[in-house]
Amino acid sequence: MSREYPRRCIYCRNDRPPSKEHVLPYSLGGDLTTLSDGTERPTVCKGCNQSFSTIDQALAEQFLTAISRAAYTKSSSHTTRVGGSHFHYDSEENLWLEAQLVNEMRSHLPPQLHHVKDYFNFFGSREQDKDSFVKVVDSRQVTGRLLRTFIRTDNADKATTPRVVQHRSNDLYVRAKTHETGIQFLELLDRQWNRIKEQLQENKAKHSTIERPSIEAHLKFRLNDTFRAVAKITFNYLAAKKGTELALSTEFDEIRSYICGDNVIRSKLVKSGQLAVDTRFVQMRRDAKPIIPTRAHAVALFYDPPALVGLVALYGEWSFVVQLGHIALKEGLFFDAHEFSIDRTGNKALEHTELAKRMRRSRDGST
Ligand SMILES: [Zn+2]
Repeated sequence: MSREYPRRCIYCRNDRPPSKEHVLPYSLGGDLTTLSDGTERPTVCKGCNQSFSTIDQALAEQFLTAISRAAYTKSSSHTTRVGGSHFHYDSEENLWLEAQLVNEMRSHLPPQLHHVKDYFNFFGSREQDKDSFVKVVDSRQVTGRLLRTFIRTDNADKATTPRVVQHRSNDLYVRAKTHETGIQFLELLDRQWNRIKEQLQENKAKHSTIERPSIEAHLKFRLNDTFRAVAKITFNYLAAKKGTELALSTEFDEIRSYICGDNVIRSKLVKSGQLAVDTRFVQMRRDAKPIIPTRAHAVALFYDPPALVGLVALYGEWSFVVQLGHIALKEGLFFDAHEFSIDRTGNKALEHTELAKRMRRSRDGST
């Protein structure tokens, strides 16, 4: 690292050492970071970086982009999932099971153990799911953390049986009708775990493998967080492309505090049919033609004095316009663009000639 650190963070304005902030969230595939070579290395401090993980997650899992993300990410690539709650009805057992929508829009049952009347019933999508499930529950039971597993009581009508679910490789949740029945279930599981583990390992416990479950999807959107994450992509790009000094200009204080979540207007009086989302800085576009012709992701800066505007295209179909602010710059009209793969295999500046060619093709209707 260079000697000049710590430097001013482009978000909180405190002098801090820089951390690795992805210009486009890593969960969408973006592999360009604010520490990547070839940029002026703007500083995003660790604290700001960590606080952004919830808005990055909203964009990746809790918006329409989440569906494209699951649809277009190859099974062989990093694991993706659509956020929200998804269920599969098992008619044989008359139970609702937890399900997930993952890469290439495959439906899948995360490993889960249900308490049915007087026995435990394990469900998964693959034979080997049992082993990873036993490992995770076991490590939490041994350290006493099993009893503190997060209990979900949303979609209580689908909690036909209390269950513990391994929803990520190292994380569990419980779904139950009420918090109280969730606690009772956890205490029972904690007491009987050694016996259940043995039965699972010796294949004596009741278990079913369902490869392709049908799914009832309950999506959950976090619109304000999603829009803040979109604004952050353009602001990160502005800082990486045009430098920290420009990013720190007071002209960008409003969007800076919007991205940090300090001045988001959460409308309490929303008419039916309207979305309760603050659209002062970010607007979503649903035009026939894409804002930047790409099949992957692209971000661009467009300076039309005095307005500095950011453009974002995700998965080649979701387009956003970001009003970064009004500012007087020495450099007149400019346009910079960058393209990112969706599978973390690269990013590159999008040359003007290439962009013009694509715009022409897009305009002529041949994609
Ligand atoms: Zn900071």
